[in-house]
Formats: sequence, C-alpha cells, structure tokens
Amino acid sequence: MPCPTCSTQSPEVALYCYRCGTSLRGSASTRAGSYAVQSSEGVNQFALISTIMPHTNRQTADNYRWAMILSAVLIVAATGLGLLPIAVAAAAFLIPVAYLVYIYDVNMWEDAPLPVVAALFLGTGVLAVLVTLFFFRWVFDEQFNSFAAGGRVGIESLSIPALLIFAVVLPIVAEVAKNVGGVFLASRPQFDDMIDGLTFGIAAGTAYAAFETIVLYSSVFTSGDFRTTDGLASWAVVVVNLMVVKALIYGTATGIAVAAFSGKGEGYDGFTGSYFLAFGLAVAANIGYWLGVRLLAYVPFGQALGLLWGFVILAVLVVRIRVMMQASLLEAAVEDAVRTDGLRSKRATVDDSYCPECENLLLDNSNFCMVCGTSVRSSSHQARRAMNEPTAPAAPTAGGVA
Ligand SMILES: [Zn+2]
Ligand SMILES: [Zn+2]
Repeated sequence: MPCPTCSTQSPEVALYCYRCGTSLRGSASTRAGSYAVQSSEGVNQFALISTIMPHTNRQTADNYRWAMILSAVLIVAATGLGLLPIAVAAAAFLIPVAYLVYIYDVNMWEDAPLPVVAALFLGTGVLAVLVTLFFFRWVFDEQFNSFAAGGRVGIESLSIPALLIFAVVLPIVAEVAKNVGGVFLASRPQFDDMIDGLTFGIAAGTAYAAFETIVLYSSVFTSGDFRTTDGLASWAVVVVNLMVVKALIYGTATGIAVAAFSGKGEGYDGFTGSYFLAFGLAVAANIGYWLGVRLLAYVPFGQALGLLWGFVILAVLVVRIRVMMQASLLEAAVEDAVRTDGLRSKRATVDDSYCPECENLLLDNSNFCMVCGTSVRSSSHQARRAMNEPTAPAAPTAGGVA
C-alpha cells in the first residue's frame, strides 16, 4: 500500500511506513500513541529512561531503571542512618555517573569515546564550581545568608534582591555555563544528530548539578561530624531533591537547548531562533524551580512542597523532550523519504536486518521498523553494527528470529 505522507510502497504487513514512520493503520493520532524512540510508550508519557537514554532498548532500559532505583534507596537509607557525607556525595553523582555508564555502555560514538564525554563532564564541572563560588561565597554571600535567617523569621523578612540574584540571575548564568561544552561538541561534524545534542546537554546539565551540590553542601564534608542525628527527615527530602529532581531538571533543560542547537537531520542548525527559544525554556524551567524552592521554604512542609514542585517542572521538561524528538525523527525521515537526489541517508539501514526492539525484519534503507514503528536512529551503535552486518548470524539482535 502507498504511504499517504511519502508515497513509498510498503509491504502488506506493514503497520508503519518504513521510510517516514507514518502510521498506515488508523489515523495520524495513532502515531502520537507510539513514541518514535520507544514505540511501546506514548509521546506524552512521563517515561524517564527512554527520554534521557534514547539508545536503550526495552530490556537495557529496565536494567538502568532498577540499578538507579536500588542506588536511590541505598542513598536514602544512608541519610536515614545520618551518614550525610556519603549520602550527599552519592546523591550528587548518582545520575551523572549512571549517565556516563550509559554513554559508555551503548558505545554512543565509537570513534570518539569516553575521553570526549569525560572532558565535557569535568569542563562543565569546573565552570559549575566557579559560578557557584562566585554567587554563593565570593560576591553575594550576604544575600544568600538572608535565606537561612529568613526561614526562621517569616516571609516578611524575604529579601527581594536576594531572591532575584539566586532564583533569576544565577539560573541564566548557570544555563550559559551548562550549554558551552555541549554546544561546542554538537557543532563537530561527527556529533550532528539531535540525539547527540540531547545527550551532551543532559550530560553537561547533570554534571553541573553534581558539582554545584558538592560546593553548596561542602560544610557536610568539612564539619568533621561523620554522623548526624538531627533533622534526618528533612535531610531525606533534601537528598531526594538533589539526587533526582535537581539533577534531572538541570540535565533535561540543557538537553532541550543543545538538542535544538543540533536540530533535525544532518549537520547542526546552530544559534537559530529555535535554539534561543529552547534556551529560554531551559532558563525558565530553572527559574521556576528555584523561585518555587526559595519561596516554599517560608511555608510549613516547604521542603516537601519544593520537591513536589520540582517533579511538576521535571514532568513538563520530559514531555517537551519527547514531543521534540518525535517531531524531529518523523520530519527528518519524511525529508529523507521524499528526497530526489538519489543519495541515501547515512542513518538509514543498509541491507536487510532486524529491529532491536521487536526483532522483526527491517527492510533495506529503513528509517523506521515497519512493524513496531521504532526509529532506527534511536538504536545503539552496537545494535546498528549488528543490523548492518547481514551475514552475521551470531549478532545479538538477531537472536530471537527463527
Ligand atoms: Zn511514508
Ligand atoms: Zn520493531
């Protein structure tokens, strides 16, 4: 049957056009129920792993999910025991380290491996330390101390200049620092995919969050008290906020900005209007988060409310990434499907191979699996190498096909 979008003839069994990903059964809304990166999930679904780790398939995503849940439980348990130096350090680095493991594990960029990502991680970390020291210690330390005093006195003692410095100016400066390394890497020719930009942004944003946390909570490490007994319930809320919410808001917000810098298709879009819109969204998310956290500190149960507020912002960012990836993967595939210059996209499959998600046959020059509708661009390089080796019966992705 011919595809209504690109006119490609698909086999009768196809549910999705293998060239452009259009749903061939049902309406266009069928496609919104099937995320191009992970077709068993909807686009507007709060699914964290497939959003920030698009190169995982369903099975490896489960491994990451359980490893992170288990680590988070251990970190909260360490907080409950009052082992704050361990808990805060582990909470700061849980997500960025898991992310580095993911990048290494899926072999994102075979020709430019871990050193590039490590340099991005440490470079952004150095910037984070400098920006944090500048705002919290060197220049505006008096304004920052007004928050600590204010919590005891009440909202009337709120210093508006302090609020503007730490909840508006700082997020703007910090977002620039988080974008620098990712934008630099995304402008290299070997990293021109939108998924590459997203990955660099998330890596840089989570690294920034980790180093900022270490500087802000340095008193935990220098106080000499290895074990604390006071206020552990509020420490547990703080640790969960640092570990999950802050790290992921910083990461996903910067991921959106750097992904917009990469743009869809081959090559990078650069500093276009859509980049500045995405950068503005990233800044707005951070400002919203910090205004909420700072102001809610003046009400009862403020820390727990701040945590909930952070989850709301995070959910908006996650869905924003998914809508953006969906549109970009589909639009790039339509452009590829209707091109008339006879060139092949370097991201389409070569020869017949098998879908890493559902193990059905992928046709030559596929952008999508015609059965499950998953984009072949979200497959990892390992899976892709196996896909592109038609004569390799031992390839792991071909395992279930008989
Ligand atoms: Zn089509
Ligand atoms: Zn499939």
